[in-house]
Amino acid sequence: MRLRNGIEIPDIGFGTWNIPYGEDCEKAVFEAIKAGYRHIDTAGAYGNERSVGLGVKAAIREGLIKDRADVFITSKLWNTNRSYNKAFRGFDKSMRNLDLDYIDLYLIHWPANKVRYKNPDEVNAVAWQALEELYEDGRVKAIGVSNFLPHHIEELKKSAKVLPMVNQIELHVGYMQEEIVDYNKKNGIITEGYSPLGTGALLDNAFLIELAEKYQTTVSAICISFLRKRGIIPLPKTTSPDRMSENLRLIRIDEEDMEILNKLPFIGGHAHNPDEVDF
Ligand code: NAP
Repeated sequence: MRLRNGIEIPDIGFGTWNIPYGEDCEKAVFEAIKAGYRHIDTAGAYGNERSVGLGVKAAIREGLIKDRADVFITSKLWNTNRSYNKAFRGFDKSMRNLDLDYIDLYLIHWPANKVRYKNPDEVNAVAWQALEELYEDGRVKAIGVSNFLPHHIEELKKSAKVLPMVNQIELHVGYMQEEIVDYNKKNGIITEGYSPLGTGALLDNAFLIELAEKYQTTVSAICISFLRKRGIIPLPKTTSPDRMSENLRLIRIDEEDMEILNKLPFIGGHAHNPDEVDF
């Protein structure tokens, strides 16, 4: 897949939320690259960027990939760093921790909202201005947002020079957020789907288990293939090498079953409303 500025983005990424800093995270990233992932999703808030960087370096050292350019790294600006100056500091800290020369994609992790700010639109605009400058200075190859609703992006448009290239939102069977996905598409924004397994909540659903049996595969392979077929970049997380490979398996799903999966009611996941969260 390509972002609006022509940068290539691999159509599936490896999620690292809840993989704590340290050897486990370093190993997970190394194993993910070994399994075939070329796209790693982290964030300042995950506290594991240093381990992500070490995992990538180990993969280069062991010859799994040739160099840094063989992997696409995303990080995110946390909510406590939304002011103009703090945004640069947050970015610099991520750069230092990752220690990988550059970041491919940098996102605003969550939009500011009225729960915490009197003027959330202004706060988002200022944070976005900092990201635009990072992009224009060539410090990051692409910029975007996460958890933004169409109205947040419409507000950004009023002052933005560069529009977000990516919007990373919660997306999975039973929680397809059609309105945001359509809006992203119409605006040339690539949609990434986080928690593609509902942070595990989808895995023991009886209907999905039966469907997986029909395709002689697993619920996770069905859920992740479904998103990829919908043109969404899923970001599954696991620390098990076998599951990493399983999650990369692309299953052909019939149109009829795609339709059913599209329309399933909520099964599990987070379903946070970005306008209402208190963080
Ligand atoms: P997820 O990928 O939906 O699910 C992960 C859970 O499923 C883990 O408990 C994992 O357990 C299990 N699992 C994974 N593959 C499996 C398989 N093949 N068979 C059985 N169990 C399996 O969860 P997520 O971590 O919420 O989301 C993925 C990524 O999205 C995050 O890591 C992060 O990078 C991103 N994210 C972004 C935001 C945001 O605000 N932008 C928010 C949430 C997540 P094991 O590890 O034990 O295998």
